[in-house]
Amino acid sequence: MNHGNGSDWEALRRAMVEEQIRKRGIRSPRVLEALARVPRHLFVPEDLIEHAYEDRALGIGERQTISQPYMVAAMTDYLELQGAERVLEIGAGSGYQAAVLAELAREVVTIEKNGSLAESARARLAALGYHNIRVEIGDGTLGWPESAPFDAILVAAAAPSIPPPLVAQLAEGGRLVIPVGQNDQQMLMRIRKLGNEISEEKLFPCQFVPLRGAYGWPDLRE
Ligand code: SAH
Repeated sequence: MNHGNGSDWEALRRAMVEEQIRKRGIRSPRVLEALARVPRHLFVPEDLIEHAYEDRALGIGERQTISQPYMVAAMTDYLELQGAERVLEIGAGSGYQAAVLAELAREVVTIEKNGSLAESARARLAALGYHNIRVEIGDGTLGWPESAPFDAILVAAAAPSIPPPLVAQLAEGGRLVIPVGQNDQQMLMRIRKLGNEISEEKLFPCQFVPLRGAYGWPDLRE
């Protein structure tokens, strides 16, 4: 493969969108276009670049992963973004999911607990020209109160239960998409805030790295 040729990557990306995402039932043109635009190969470690458009999660260092393309697309789709939203992501990792969200919403705040991942995500997103994303370092299970409320919240790591601060920081009509459950398998959930009512939907089983922090799993290294 010729890494210098941008059209090779674009062809791989189009195939990814068609085979892994559209054929599996995600039909929103806006979501498909966002996935076709974001250069995923620039978000993975250089030694894995050849695998960037494969149908799987990849290691990004610090024992963390960039999610499988289909998972990024499905979670994004469930947020129902129209373009004017303020979005919160927990678990910036490589910054890839944040870039996809930034293609579809007005503003994205993404929180990353790991300082070195946060720094590289910040540098990468700035180099790619994403001016509507802010990468913050902290415990995302607490949300980001000073920027709340959010129209949509996406949690990219597995929580033992739904962190109350995230529900509290949802705007009226807001959606929260989050994997909830034990280490080996979780259920992807969507929470919706409508007036005083909170609705909960089970979407599908999934597997994520653990969410650590005050409303996450304890960090065994601490
Ligand atoms: N969305 C990322 C993948 C995230 S992997 C991408 O597109 O590449 C999950 C990330 O959540 C890891 O980087 C991990 O460090 C982070 N994380 C775990 N617990 C967290 C917390 N409480 N607050 C913020 N980030 C957290």
